Amino acid sequence: MKRLTLVPLVALLTIPSLCLSGKEDTLPNEVRWVRESGEYANLCRQTFRLAQDAVREQVRNSSKQKIALVMDLDETVLDNSLYQVERHRLGLGFTQDSWSVWVKREEAGLVPGVKSFLSFLRKHPVRVIFLSNRMNENLEPTKSNLRKLGVLGKDDLFLLRMDKQDTKIIRRAEITNGTGRMKKTGPFFVVAYFGDSMGDFPIPSGEAFGKTHFMLPNPMYGKW
Ligand SMILES: [Mg+2]
Repeated sequence: MKRLTLVPLVALLTIPSLCLSGKEDTLPNEVRWVRESGEYANLCRQTFRLAQDAVREQVRNSSKQKIALVMDLDETVLDNSLYQVERHRLGLGFTQDSWSVWVKREEAGLVPGVKSFLSFLRKHPVRVIFLSNRMNENLEPTKSNLRKLGVLGKDDLFLLRMDKQDTKIIRRAEITNGTGRMKKTGPFFVVAYFGDSMGDFPIPSGEAFGKTHFMLPNPMYGKW
């Protein structure tokens, strides 16, 4: 009987000390890991650093005329962990409406390492194509956010989502075939894909990762 009474006592002693340890400490572990850990930041930087070598090699060896690099935006280029913090503090989860409000605020930050990677790309004959499931109606605030962060290139292309049927598979095919929205530019040879979700990549497993496919960590949300 004595053992049973100990459990609530320990809980009572522990809970107030957790509450007093600051608001950030009450965040879910996965959000804290992204916002505060050196592990997350270094893992992102490591990915971009390795990608830089691989892309340099791909560009050097490619005989193709028009080369592109396809990047997802959220949690690949843009850091939206503040949105996660705010939703958590409100006790609410993701909704399309609150997400759209967040996107229009243009307050997303940058994933560690992406700025220097993008400036490396600007020195090479590679077209950057941002392929994101942000809705196309939010194209302007998205560009504006990237501009404020100093990572928007004047020739960058955007393939955002028109509607539910407009999958990334469809948009990737437009890039490689030069069809649909890519009719004006013509087809591109894609040297690398970057994303935080399996849906960002044409080959979902195997040796492509680390060579032409580069994954960024995102423990906060996903379809796993
Ligand atoms: Mg993403």
